[in-house]
Order: sequence, then structure tokens, then C-alpha cells
Amino acid sequence: MPITRRALLVGAAGSTLLLGAPGIVRAQQVFRAYPFTLGVAAGDAAADGFVLWTRLAPEPLEPHGGMPMAPIAVQWEVAADPAFKTIAAKGEALARPELGHSVHVEVAGLQADRPYWYRFTCGRERSMRGRVKTLPAAGASVARARFVVVGCQHYEQGLYTAYGHAAHEEADFAFHYGDYIYEGRTSPINFDYGGAPRKFIRAHVGEEPYSLDDYRRRYAQYKTDPDLQAAHAATGWYATFDDHEVQNNWVSDRDQNGTPPDAFLLRRAAAFQAWYEHMPVRSASIPHGGAIQAYRRARFGDLLDLHLLDTRQFRTDQPCDDGFKARCAGWDAADAQVLGSPQEAWLGRNLAEGKARWNAIAQQVMVMPLDRRMGDEPEPIRNMDSWGGYDRPRERLLSSFAGHGNVVVLTGDEHQNYAGELRTHAGQGEAVAVEFVSTSISSGGDGADVRAGSDKILARNPYLKYMNDRRGYLLCDVTSDQWQAQFRTVDQVTEPNAPVKTARTAIVPHGRPQLDFA
Ligand code: FE
Ligand code: CA
Repeated sequence: MPITRRALLVGAAGSTLLLGAPGIVRAQQVFRAYPFTLGVAAGDAAADGFVLWTRLAPEPLEPHGGMPMAPIAVQWEVAADPAFKTIAAKGEALARPELGHSVHVEVAGLQADRPYWYRFTCGRERSMRGRVKTLPAAGASVARARFVVVGCQHYEQGLYTAYGHAAHEEADFAFHYGDYIYEGRTSPINFDYGGAPRKFIRAHVGEEPYSLDDYRRRYAQYKTDPDLQAAHAATGWYATFDDHEVQNNWVSDRDQNGTPPDAFLLRRAAAFQAWYEHMPVRSASIPHGGAIQAYRRARFGDLLDLHLLDTRQFRTDQPCDDGFKARCAGWDAADAQVLGSPQEAWLGRNLAEGKARWNAIAQQVMVMPLDRRMGDEPEPIRNMDSWGGYDRPRERLLSSFAGHGNVVVLTGDEHQNYAGELRTHAGQGEAVAVEFVSTSISSGGDGADVRAGSDKILARNPYLKYMNDRRGYLLCDVTSDQWQAQFRTVDQVTEPNAPVKTARTAIVPHGRPQLDFA
């Protein structure tokens, strides 16, 4: 059939585009620039499938990623082998301008508990290859699970060397606890936790994001990093968000600057849409009316239930005007919330009815109510942006853990490694779970093995057993009898190629919420 001139469009991407079904455009020739600059990703795996993700962006930092304002058809393939000899599923999806030309494919009908490989094609261009595993069927007998805990990846403060190493851990999945982007504009002069100037590595492009296009560009810049792309291509992720996907320490409809809630919610809606567009999450997490459904559950056979929490969207304002503070009345507020009632009830039901050998509480901010005093201050000091600022919600959470002997809390946000026992009554009561706080991928820069003052924190909080201030990730190996967690660290993120090592190996025996060290 002859192609009429009206049927041909030459988009900003430089591709020749052929109109197919009404409104749908097919790329027939080469893009002027490679369109898969942001890599690929998979996530939210179930026993029968997962989400595949990519975004077309031939010029990732330009408006609209350099794409024409039309929906573009993208082909996807899922194979049983890395050479794509046996295709298990394939199809076509639309990269829509409404969603920043991102593609989310929910693949179903696959076999449980096995790896698959996937890739995308658009015109003559093909994406890199990714790998993702389906979960074991819920309730199926499973001997082990291996996964990484990652997050806090400030682009300016360090290279993503740790992601390059995480990509080689042969993890069944990754849990991302948030701070995928940081919203600040570039700050060429900044300082480490000891007050020394930090070596400048690379710069954020653009001002602080407020609009959808601003956030899209920030995600695009982060996603051009090859180590981050490798970590996505290596395994499926369960992505959540923390504060910096929107604004530092936001909760509910409040930012840190006293912005009127109606105005902040417009910014939050743009940030939520950009988060959805760039994460391999299901359509259930498309924002509606400025809100997003992000808490959810994944079940790894009979071995592990993963409860993924949202500790930002439904939280009451930080007490004591936020920050690290001595006690104020708000610590103990009767109406304080971290999860909000519906999510708290959902988690309580999951724990009460679940039959898995282990429960992982995959969330963002520290549950241990650490006394943060590093000097001779007369009163205990806590981090108001952690569960330490929310006595009643924290004690309710801990009481929902009591009696299980199989709860492990996975946390980020702190930019340090911590391991400790979760005890009721603000650390004075019985141990009901163990908390592992995974350090940052890059936020905070090189760090040190031990941050100055850590000895004082450890001495004041006897249920806290370990601190370490290097960058890296947590590597968990879970079997029926024990939960092993390795704190994997790199000594440098301001120079490339730092090797990874295990700084410490912690073990939780099944049935007893206690920490042992190998
Ligand atoms: Fe962070
Ligand atoms: Ca954070």
C-alpha cells in the first residue's frame, strides 16, 4: 500500500513515523538519537508475571525527552533464555505523551519461580536486555530468598558504584526504600557530616523541580547512569518512595516551607505522576486525584511475605517542628499517625493472617527511637522525621509484631548502616523484631567506617548493635531457619571502581527476635 505524505510525520526525535490505527504512530526508521537512553526495568513481580518498564527519551534532558507529541508503538518480548531463542510472551504497548512516553507492560500467564529476559524494540532501535524472576507461587515450599535493599542515591554526592556491585549479587529481587531522586538544584559546595567540604562529582541539571516536566528531567538525568541501569536490568524491583521524590521531609499535604497545602498538593501530584512514570509499578499505582496507592504486598512462596509501606502520604505532621529534638508534647500525641488507619489495619491483618515463615516490613524511616545525643545534652534527642517522633503509632506497630518471632524491618533514609532489636516501651520492653537500616547508595559521599559520635549513640541505646557510615546496600539471604544480612559497602563514591566488601554480617534466628553477628 502506498504511503501518502499525510501518513508520514517526522517527529522531533528525527524518526520517520507512520500512522497506524487512529492516533497511533509507528516508528519505521531510525531515531536521530538512540531512544532507550534511560534503560529498562522490571518490577512488582507476582507468581505469574511482572511489570516491564522503559521510557523513550532520545534526548533525555530536553523537553519531552526529545519525543514528538504523539503516542508511539513499542514492541516488547519476554524470553525464557538470555539469547531470546524461546519467546514466552510478546506484544505491543503505547508510549503515550500523557505519561512522558513511558511504557508499563503488565505481563501475566508466565511460569512461577523462574528467570525471564525482556527487551523492547521501536522502529530499528532495540533496548538493552533485562532479567527478572517471577515469584514462587504463594504458599509453595521455598528454601531460600536472596535480595538487596537499596535507596538514597543523591546524584551529586557520589557515583553509583554500589549499584554496579548490586547488579552482580544474583538477587531474586531488589527493594528500593526511596530517595530515588533528590529535588535540590545543584549545590557545588556542600559538606560532609563532619563539616568538611565534599569533593564535587557531578551536577544536577536545572532548578529545583516543581512541575511535571521538571521532575521528568530529574528522573531522566538519574536514569542515564549506567550503574543504575545495570541494577535495574539485573533483577526486578519493588519500588517505594520516601521524601525526596517530592520534597525534603514532606508528609501528607505539608512541605517543609509552610507552603499552603492546596499549593503543595499540586506539586506533590506532579511528583507522584513522575514517580509512577519512571518506576516499574502496576497500573494500580497510577495517581488518582493527586493521591497514589503505593502500599502493597508481595508473597515469596511460603518463605517470605513482603509488606511494602507508605510512611509519607498518610502521616501526621512531624512533632516539635521536625528536626532532631528533645522531647515535646507532640512525641506522645494521641492522634498521631505514621501509616494512617486504613494502612495500619491492612498491615495488622496481613501479619495476623499471614502464614509465611518470615515477614519483611519494607519501609522508609527508622523505627528504633534512638537517643541521638552525641554530647552532654541533658534530655534525650530523637529524629522527629522517624518513628521515634511518633510514640503511639510506633508502639501499636510493635505490638502487631509481638508473638510472631519472624518480623524483620527493612529501612533506609538515614544514610548509615544500623542493626538493632526493636523493643516495646521505647526500647525498654521486650524485643519483638529486628531492624536493619540500609545505608545510602551515594547520599553523604564517601563517609567513614565509623562516623564521629557513633560510640555515644551505641552506648545510649543498648538495643542498637551496629553502626557503619559507608555507602552501599544490604544483601539478605533468607532461609527457613535464619535471616542473614550482609552490610555491603564501598569505601569511595567520589572516585570510580571502588571494590565492594562485607563490612558486617548479621544473623536473625527464626523464632527469636535477636541479632547475632557472624
Ligand atoms: Fe536519603
Ligand atoms: Ca529520606
